[in-house]
Amino acid sequence: MATAKYIFVTGGVTSSLGKGIISASLGKLLQARGFNVTIQKFDPYINIDPGTLNPYEHGECFVTDDGAETDLDLGHYERFLNSPTSQANNVTTGRIYNNVITKERKGEYLGKTVQVVPHITDEIKKNIFQLGETGKFDFVITEIGGCVGDIESLPFIEAVRQVKWDVGTNNFLVIHLTLIPYLSAAKELKTKPTQHSVKQLLEAGIQPDILVCRSEHHLPLEIRKKLALFCNVHINSVIEALDAETIYDVPILMRKEKLAERVLAKLKINHKEEPDLEQWKSFLGKLKNPTDEVEIGLVGKYVELPDAYKSIVESFIHAGAANECKVNIHWISSETINEKNTKTILGNLDGVLVAPGFGERGIQGKIEAIKYVRENNIPFFGICLGMQCAVVEFARNVLHLSKASSTEIDQKSPDPVIDLMEDQKKVTNMGGTMRLGAYPCKLKKGSKANGVYGKLNISERHRHRYEFNNKYLEKMEKAGLKATGINPETGLVEIIELDNHPWFIGTQFHPELKSTVLNPHPLFVKFVEAAIIKKKS
Ligand code: GLN
Repeated sequence: MATAKYIFVTGGVTSSLGKGIISASLGKLLQARGFNVTIQKFDPYINIDPGTLNPYEHGECFVTDDGAETDLDLGHYERFLNSPTSQANNVTTGRIYNNVITKERKGEYLGKTVQVVPHITDEIKKNIFQLGETGKFDFVITEIGGCVGDIESLPFIEAVRQVKWDVGTNNFLVIHLTLIPYLSAAKELKTKPTQHSVKQLLEAGIQPDILVCRSEHHLPLEIRKKLALFCNVHINSVIEALDAETIYDVPILMRKEKLAERVLAKLKINHKEEPDLEQWKSFLGKLKNPTDEVEIGLVGKYVELPDAYKSIVESFIHAGAANECKVNIHWISSETINEKNTKTILGNLDGVLVAPGFGERGIQGKIEAIKYVRENNIPFFGICLGMQCAVVEFARNVLHLSKASSTEIDQKSPDPVIDLMEDQKKVTNMGGTMRLGAYPCKLKKGSKANGVYGKLNISERHRHRYEFNNKYLEKMEKAGLKATGINPETGLVEIIELDNHPWFIGTQFHPELKSTVLNPHPLFVKFVEAAIIKKKS
């Protein structure tokens, strides 16, 4: 196809209906028919990006190869489509305004009054089109965050209305995701909230082409007819989206409901071939028919909100399926762990992952947990702060540097085994200034890490300020903690591992950001394998 087709996904009635998963599933179904697809998300909040947001506010911050700190839905897009996203795939109101105000200060508006329409909406449209204009994609799916009717999303909705006139009706389509609640007292599914949210879209000048209806019950024909009539769509464009056992079922459910067929028909694309979902189905088959089961402890400080560790949880799902093994995650708040209760809390686990994080809270518990699994040969996987804690633990308990620490925790530590690099010491702005995005890493030949990856040169994504302090490298290595992954350009330590332990690996980078359904991350796959071995021993 010459030009990209633009598909917008809006939400109505309530948030959390799963626009991200519906967008990713539609993307998957189009990709499975041989089309090139990208998905972007527009977030209506004023932050320039979610990088400075507390995980409790926003869940995980997903980092792309180009170092953008983005919404966690981008993780779903990558995991479903198996292709990388970038800064262009996530734009916030804050970024739009920032761009417009920067231009205004430069005098680029030539004395004009700068207004929401057309200047903000033009900037939004520029960001909508930039992926399509690369010529790489047949479809650009744009998810509009929030719900229609929210004050914040109005400029985005207005921009979507205008796009129809810019690209023409054959290249433009709106899918509205909505909720059909079931009133148990009346034993009835209710369409009124959907009618109202479609009315709100109509007030903004947008007629949705397709309704995707989240529901706990099947939509009977009568309900579909009613929705079609009142919302002004074809009955075949009323798509049922039942609650699914796993998010990875949703492409299959949408396939049954013919979502992609409707999209192709509406956009007048003649494409009769069946989608190729063989690999996807084989993944689902393994996921749902495990032959093993392991217990993994996830030690972190945001455990009340699993969304804070979204990509880690999904990576375990991918790795579990690869091993045909059910991975049961035990959420362990690091603040509850102390030297007396480690055995009770961790003793029966087959593996322990110590999670990424920021700040001092919960650090001591992480260190105690690591000491226990190191001494008791329980497979250990430390990610970012988890790796840094493993270095501190080793320094304190094996090298006997009792005050060793990270300078993030103790600025006055006499043994700052984890420390800020010179360039980070000058940083005063907190947004977008960490070591972010993809960096190369060279593995030591014959190391565990080398065995895991099966190659020597890798690239992984980062999001942190502090680093392994190379002044301590020699001492650590002599005592058995080896640096087996090194950044070839800077000499920074990216991976540590223990010699005399069945599986003890810490990574300064975030492998969870690169695990997808079709490419489960080898570190997670091998960690789960190590847990299976531990369980059987
Ligand atoms: N807080 C640590 C740092 O900034 C680790 C960050 C993380 O775990 N993502 O270096």
